[in-house]
Amino acid sequence: MKIQPKLSPEKIILTGLNYKDHARELDMKIPDEPIIFLKPPSAIIGPGENIIYPEGVRRLDYEAELAIVIGKEGKKIPEKKVKDYILGYTCLNDVTARDLQKKDRQWSRAKSFDTFCPLGPWIETDLDPSDIQIQSFLNGKLKQNSRTSNFIFRINFLISFISKIMTLKIGDIISTGTPAGIGPMQKNDKVEIVIEGIGSLKNQVV
Ligand code: MG
Repeated sequence: MKIQPKLSPEKIILTGLNYKDHARELDMKIPDEPIIFLKPPSAIIGPGENIIYPEGVRRLDYEAELAIVIGKEGKKIPEKKVKDYILGYTCLNDVTARDLQKKDRQWSRAKSFDTFCPLGPWIETDLDPSDIQIQSFLNGKLKQNSRTSNFIFRINFLISFISKIMTLKIGDIISTGTPAGIGPMQKNDKVEIVIEGIGSLKNQVV
């Protein structure tokens, strides 16, 4: 079932490095625990809305990600109970000012500009996310192409792990990281995230 509520999560929690192919691309060691960070809900835009290229940013990247929408409040959720807390799945573009991420070391500024969290096009409630294709296209050209079976940390583990740190509330978004093939966007570029069984999220950079 596809549902299209107005998304207004209390928090958006993202995973820093969660695909084996992306870790290889960055020549980074596989982390032994998930690296998580937050984006503010004020960064959310919907399908078809514009990503604003901030003044002073030198490199603006797309990152295709599978996002989970929480459907029930939970704390210290056991891995085998995680399914009960998931409302559904959607596409997320973890837009990143890569130059500021490197400069600041803290990621808050680089990840948090207004419009840096395209989400949608809807929430798919009937989906087995264990091995689905995830892709991004820039101006129609394939840039990222992987499968969720390449996750370093599986969804049940990830949500259980995060829920031991912070109470998850209804509507909260958890993003599962991006695969290999990240790259920059320019003004006027059209970016599309496509996830098998969910659909396509399209936005333009202005
Ligand atoms: Mg990301």
